[in-house]
Amino acid sequence: MNIKCNFCGNNTVGKVHTTNGATSYVLTQVDTSKTPAEFLATSGLPVDVYGCTNCKAVFLRCDSLRNN
Ligand SMILES: [Zn+2]
Repeated sequence: MNIKCNFCGNNTVGKVHTTNGATSYVLTQVDTSKTPAEFLATSGLPVDVYGCTNCKAVFLRCDSLRNN
């Protein structure tokens, strides 16, 4: 997949791989009404992480996103 950087426009974007191919990055939630904020370990959205080697921007992509 050839992705252009949304921030600087360069073609220097690549997927940031996890240390193990069987694992995934995940976007988690925290309950900020608690002090300290409570991490919700059972809630998360698997995401792919991409980074631009030119401007160092990092962004996420989620293939499981659907319209309701
Ligand atoms: Zn960039």
